[in-house]
Amino acid sequence: MEETGLKQKLLTLSRILYKEGFLDSFGHISVRIPGKDYFYVTRGEPSGKGDFDAADLVKVDFQGNQLEGRGRPPVEVILHTVLHRSREDAGCVVHVHPYYCILMTVAGIKFTPITVQAATLGWTVPSYDVADLVVSPEEGESFLQKIGNAKAILLKGHGIVTVGSTIEEAFYLTYTLEESARFLVDAHRLGVANPLSQEEVQKRLDYVKSRPSDKGPYAKTWAYHEFKTRG
Ligand SMILES: [Zn+2]
Repeated sequence: MEETGLKQKLLTLSRILYKEGFLDSFGHISVRIPGKDYFYVTRGEPSGKGDFDAADLVKVDFQGNQLEGRGRPPVEVILHTVLHRSREDAGCVVHVHPYYCILMTVAGIKFTPITVQAATLGWTVPSYDVADLVVSPEEGESFLQKIGNAKAILLKGHGIVTVGSTIEEAFYLTYTLEESARFLVDAHRLGVANPLSQEEVQKRLDYVKSRPSDKGPYAKTWAYHEFKTRG
């Protein structure tokens, strides 16, 4: 997809995440433009993120410099910069503060895949164990070390970051991580949280990989929420 299309789809993601309660005054999302050394990120100033237009997307290079756009990049733009600069698979990055994901970190519950959907995130979701914003280059490097090649990370007492190769995948991972956190918190309340086996997780990962991009779980979840939150 070319640049204008990717920017439009990022705006659609902003609307969906806003309407689903993931984005409010805080949180931001970005998309990298294939073959270029820059990305677009939603601007940092508080406003309704359901009605952003293209001028609300700030163009930023891999050194973190603003190239274009109304307003300023978010304070934690480094979360996006380090991932787009370092990871080939980082097409879209989402940073939000979902309730159950934060509750997991507060309660000291580690991520374990206990549903088929959660297995899409892989065997583990690492944690960044400093309860603070990620702002400086040093903090950005430390964050990058922690996330490694994982698809998502939990930020202690703060929120999450998810990394998709596409915008649809990043949405799926964000939605599924919060859903999984809710299952995990409730399972712990019940006193039992049976994890899937390594084989079950691998089977899920293989299945997702085998699906055509327009028929797999990422596309279906996107289509449902795009329709549900339209208008
Ligand atoms: Zn944050």
